[in-house]
Amino acid sequence: MSGPRIDVDLDAVQGNVRAIASLTETPLLAVVKANGYGHGAVEVARAALDGGAVRLGVVDLREALALRSAGVTAPILTWMHGARTDWLAALDAEIELGISSLAQLELLDIGLGRLEHSDRSVVVHLKLDTGLGRNGISAIEWESAFTKAAELERRGLIRLEGLFSHLAGAGEQADLAQLASFEHALELAGRSGLDVTVRHLAATAGSMSLPQARFDLVRLGVSLYGLSPFAAGVECPASLQPALSLSAPLREDLEGFRVDIGQADGLPPVAAGALELADSNGGRWRVVSVGALETRVEPHEGGTAETVRLGDDADAPRLAVIDTARSSSADDWAAAAGTINYEVVTRLSSRIPRRFTGTGTGTGTTGTGTGTTDMEAVSELAPGLLADRRGTEDGGLVLAPRRELAIDVELLRSRMGERAAARAEALAAGMGARHAARTFSVDVSADAYGHGAELVAGLALEYGLLPLVARSADLERLGGAARERALVDRERAGDARSRAVYGFDDPNARVTVSLASELVHVKRVTAGHGVSYGYDWVAEEATTLGLVPLGYADAIPRSVAGRAEVVIGGERRPIVGRVAMDQVVIDLQDQEAWIGMPVSIFGAEPRDIHVREWASWAGVEPQAFVAAFGPRVVRREGGAE
Ligand SMILES: *Cc1c(COP(=O)(O)O)cnc(C)c1O
Repeated sequence: MSGPRIDVDLDAVQGNVRAIASLTETPLLAVVKANGYGHGAVEVARAALDGGAVRLGVVDLREALALRSAGVTAPILTWMHGARTDWLAALDAEIELGISSLAQLELLDIGLGRLEHSDRSVVVHLKLDTGLGRNGISAIEWESAFTKAAELERRGLIRLEGLFSHLAGAGEQADLAQLASFEHALELAGRSGLDVTVRHLAATAGSMSLPQARFDLVRLGVSLYGLSPFAAGVECPASLQPALSLSAPLREDLEGFRVDIGQADGLPPVAAGALELADSNGGRWRVVSVGALETRVEPHEGGTAETVRLGDDADAPRLAVIDTARSSSADDWAAAAGTINYEVVTRLSSRIPRRFTGTGTGTGTTGTGTGTTDMEAVSELAPGLLADRRGTEDGGLVLAPRRELAIDVELLRSRMGERAAARAEALAAGMGARHAARTFSVDVSADAYGHGAELVAGLALEYGLLPLVARSADLERLGGAARERALVDRERAGDARSRAVYGFDDPNARVTVSLASELVHVKRVTAGHGVSYGYDWVAEEATTLGLVPLGYADAIPRSVAGRAEVVIGGERRPIVGRVAMDQVVIDLQDQEAWIGMPVSIFGAEPRDIHVREWASWAGVEPQAFVAAFGPRVVRREGGAE
């Protein structure tokens, strides 16, 4: 692995779990959603369990099944589900369900109805909205939801184990108000005849700053990875060790120095000079710019580039891009980019190889892996689980809420056809064959910007066009013939003409990808209701809020808050409040809306938002915007719908 690489120290994860356990003296649930905040879900889960965590938490059933298929047997709680969720798959794999509305309890009733006369039941934790204004049962629904849950329990469909909620972190007063509200809910639940044995409210920040919020379990995310949930300058009471570092070989070209990792790989844009980095020879560098596919650096003042020995990747000094001990930390990157450490690590592309070190695996091995969820293993497991009665992810029930990137293969083909015709014309007009091949090439870098490099490179070859990549690591995404035929050509691949097939660069062109989701939660709120972390947005009047299961781990960077819109039922609707890792809230005003209602993030239809608009909200280039989508976004080949 001589290219860009992420190192994850599993001993650090274990140490962090122990440090927090001794501080909180409360059983720990390790949150490994979003591929373990970009670190690698399976490896971190094992290390956290070895360190003493007793439960795991992820967002959806697909993430949970990926852990099961890797052999993880600990209890796993999930808390976000689409309208067509395969509830029986949860039962079969012994996954616990966090349920967020009365409507969802009714869906569960329908989905589990056949269990009525069996001795099997699914474990449920009810998720309450005590003020975050996001997922969770609204206070007005608490009593009816508790009554419904008690009924499902009597009928043997569920076993109610827990009640939980999530703090907005909007200050001590707000936290205490949520705590009081949670205690009130516990009382109501008791009166409804529910026997709640696992009460949990606090994530990392609450577990450290509000001991009364610990109850029976604390749900730890960011601190597992050694990062503090608190703003810069606020001391973190546990001594944590960051587990992740990112490095890449330094390269020199005519313009100066660079590393081949950029926005498309999840790095945020930063201002020139905002970050200082170290290389493996002790040289100091300053970040000049983070571009789509590369980061440019220059020797730090007073230093020289003498330490740089140019050679191939294996010999080149490595630049420590993120490295708390030696270089800039995730916190430094967050400060330079105007974001939080959570986003910096979580958005790092799953394409960057992960190398795991430490004894956290329990076997003392040093493993290597991509760190991504093994979807093939899941699909092998799921058909077995899904047996006869449930159909496939295509036709019927699903394991995860809809987060779907549709690839318009027909449009790609027709653009390739145009390019092939233009090349033939140029050849006829006397252009040399080599020159023509390069001029009419197709850029398939960065896993071909959301489309899948294999697909695009395969199509290019079919039309006699030359696939190019900007970076040698991009070659590894290609298989067979494409890998042999593709060329590394930074300059040409960087030229917008070689990306013309995608339509990203032309505001009037149809784009070959569109991103769709669904509403997973709809609720009515009154004036004064705050939404999401920090309550940056407060409803001015009564309104309807919808929850979309896409966050900064998936496709929506935090930087778009206050600007971005989506299209629901043909109407443009704003994202309100902060963008969270797994979700955003939409203000629907008085629009009629329901769970499962389609949401278009961007697309190719006249009413859709163009991906260029999204990229400008995010402050990145369109192709990099799409290339940086996380592994929970699934690709579907076909036309736009
Ligand atoms: C992500 C998440 C957590 C973990 O939060 P941290 O701040 O990373 O500790 C806990 N609970 C829920 C419901 C979450 O979604």
